[in-house]
Amino acid sequence: MTEAYDAIVLGSGNAGMAAAGALRAAGKSVAMVESWDVGGTCPLRGCVPKKVLVAAAQVLHQIALAPQHHIEVDAPRLDWAALIARERGFVEGVPEAFAKSLEGRGIELIRGRARFTGPARVAVGARVLEADKVLIATGSKPRPLAIPGAEHLITSEDILEMAELPERLVFIGGGVIALEFAHVFARAGTKVTILEALPRLLPRLYPYSVAKIHAESERIGIEVATGVEVKEIAKVEGGLEVRFVHEGEHKTLAADRVANGTGRVPDLDGLDLAAGGIEHEGTRIAVRMMTEEPFTGVEGDYVQFPPRNVIPKPLQKPHPPLWVAGGRRETVLTAARLGMGSLGFGFETPEEAEEQAE
Ligand SMILES: Cc1cc2nc3c(=O)[nH]c(=O)nc-3n(C[C@H](O)[C@H](O)[C@H](O)COP(=O)(O)OP(=O)(O)OC[C@H]3O[C@@H](n4cnc5c(N)ncnc54)[C@H](O)[C@@H]3O)c2cc1C
Repeated sequence: MTEAYDAIVLGSGNAGMAAAGALRAAGKSVAMVESWDVGGTCPLRGCVPKKVLVAAAQVLHQIALAPQHHIEVDAPRLDWAALIARERGFVEGVPEAFAKSLEGRGIELIRGRARFTGPARVAVGARVLEADKVLIATGSKPRPLAIPGAEHLITSEDILEMAELPERLVFIGGGVIALEFAHVFARAGTKVTILEALPRLLPRLYPYSVAKIHAESERIGIEVATGVEVKEIAKVEGGLEVRFVHEGEHKTLAADRVANGTGRVPDLDGLDLAAGGIEHEGTRIAVRMMTEEPFTGVEGDYVQFPPRNVIPKPLQKPHPPLWVAGGRRETVLTAARLGMGSLGFGFETPEEAEEQAE
């Protein structure tokens, strides 16, 4: 039997929550499908727990500055396991609280992995759901690395649960998340190395700011190598070994842990976009222009600024249209620039979007 809703939201992260709330507030019947813990990356495996570690690193930084203010302090001792336990405490109970909040608002939570079985039709286990609107807000996952020994890599999720402070930690990739963690570990006393493939760290940020961050990283003891080609991660006696080419030379680096810092990619695993009749190129989903009737939407890590994961073009053939739900300011503005409709904000022009995103 097919269960009918006004809207189905796939994913219970920041994006899905915002959209489901807006739809429910507008009086729509809403089903939210979640395959993991309710709340998604930011509060459970991303921003929030990470900030607990960053806050501790900032305190260590302030303590290091004490002599400048003529304050004598002893060398601080960080209990890493206790810090991780504190950070875990910020996450505990959060999925249950989100689930309760959804229930209170009359949003039906359906647990399981969603897959399209037809246009605007989704299966979750044995259940089949249908709706006028389906919103894809399934977020992102760590970028898989196709090198021998990739199975030894840890991700940000592992880091946030790592109760033992490693002596030597290597990040492959020097993006924002890697840099933040690198600074936390360096302050905590770990020997940190960043191996970045591109000519510089943080390629999307202003060179001036990046130069400052690079210099500060080295000042606190982080070793940074750019233009690196990592070939392999090997398990050796006493830990791991990263094998790479840098400035034309083959090199090796010993490590206790090697983290994947190469960024994240959209999570479309098992969604079967083709069965949903959704046009896409790899992980980029085609999005219809706002003149057409909205049907299926994308939101969250799909439509970050700049909009890497959407294909902004009017579709030629009949197809379930896609549309963007209101979320972060960048998302709304991006949607406006691309001429898409917006669920959460309901703007018609980029100027209105600017106003609503304030
Ligand atoms: C370590 C880390 C630190 C970060 N720090 C910051 C920060 O400081 N500031 C900031 O702005 N951003 C930060 N981010 C990014 C931020 O977490 C994401 O941009 C945000 O969480 C994206 O929200 P979302 O709703 O798009 O996806 P998510 O929160 O990932 O939610 C997607 C949900 O969909 C579920 N799902 C996936 N596929 C299916 C399926 N087929 N069926 C059912 N459910 C499915 C997933 O289980 C997940 O719960 C950080 C990310 C990480 C990893």
